Amino acid sequence: MLKAFSDIPRVLEERRAQSLYRERTRLDGAQQVHTLIDGRPMLSFCSNDYLGLANHRAIARRLTEAVAAHGTGAGASHLVNGHHAEHEALEDELAAFTGREAALVFSTGYMANLGVISALMGRGDTVVQDKLNHASLIDGSQLSQARLLRYRHNDPIHLEERLKQAQGKCLVVTDGVFSMDGDCAQLKAMSELCQAHGAWLMVDDAHGLGVLGDQGQGLVGQCGLNESDVPLLVGTLGKAFGTAGAFVAGRRSTIDYLLQYARSYIYTTAAPPAVAAATREALVLVEQADDTRAHLNRLIQRFRQGVGQLPFELMPSHTPIQPLLVGSVDAALHLSQGLRERGLLVTAIRPPTVPVGEARLRVTLSAGHSEADIDRLLNTLEDLA
Ligand SMILES: *Cc1c(COP(=O)(O)O)cnc(C)c1O
Repeated sequence: MLKAFSDIPRVLEERRAQSLYRERTRLDGAQQVHTLIDGRPMLSFCSNDYLGLANHRAIARRLTEAVAAHGTGAGASHLVNGHHAEHEALEDELAAFTGREAALVFSTGYMANLGVISALMGRGDTVVQDKLNHASLIDGSQLSQARLLRYRHNDPIHLEERLKQAQGKCLVVTDGVFSMDGDCAQLKAMSELCQAHGAWLMVDDAHGLGVLGDQGQGLVGQCGLNESDVPLLVGTLGKAFGTAGAFVAGRRSTIDYLLQYARSYIYTTAAPPAVAAATREALVLVEQADDTRAHLNRLIQRFRQGVGQLPFELMPSHTPIQPLLVGSVDAALHLSQGLRERGLLVTAIRPPTVPVGEARLRVTLSAGHSEADIDRLLNTLEDLA
């Protein structure tokens, strides 16, 4: 906590002393697995570009063509005159993709979560969240002024206790794939509990859409849950889709309501229409990428088998997020630094992003990786162990 502005240098110094000071690595090349970081060639295991679409020729071409046709800026918010045909077509296509009546596109996932939760919930209501939910979901419920109850990670029994304590309208919120652990929410059990208690379920499938399920339909699609089971489905477009933005999908009336009341949708300039056009191209590629997903799954298996021979602890994840639990902050930083000196980029994740004592290397795999890339990571980890 910052007690006075004059404390800023001291607070920074303390953060450094605890090895918690955050610094940015600088990308000097394209976002892809073999790239340039701080001027050096590097093999990256950090990005959320799960399908290798962030630097895909067809998407880049569509973006530049759309810039030539529609210009660079949206020029206004959606409710003034920034709402472009490309945005609307993308919304219709995302609704069809997710099997929902309608979708609303936001500029970022952070804004989508803030807007959705704060528009639907208020004082006297209850938002129930998994302990490990993404920060944007927690911030959204704080903004709404509803009471926030949290349940133990992925624990439907504790969730049910919370549901019994809820007052007012109740919204249960969860990540689909948990962003720091890579495991999946037990959506089927959760949706049954929500229906039994008259609560709505909101799933943020930022790391599942495009990655899991046939045609990349995500965890919600893979679990076969419709819009009665999951009335609010959030997806982000800056991860597997390789562009930027996010959306919420659900019933037409829900989306119409959010269009009226979600402040992070209303009071901001619309994303450039060319970005929406590029995302439409990405959506086609995502749906056609079953072979790419099969390749990615083979890499995940190969990595997990390889780590099984090493003195590192894997987490129960079958997604491209494959954290290695290290424990102490210093050990995690040391390992990350050792990998980096050998040309491999893997970020150390530290508190407060993860609980104290659970510092980890967050390895994320991408379809852009080859089997040789995975073997290089495994061999280097073995050298460092
Ligand atoms: C990345 C992420 C977000 C934020 O999305 P942005 O488009 O990057 O703002 C929201 N929720 C989850 C679970 C995420 O992983």
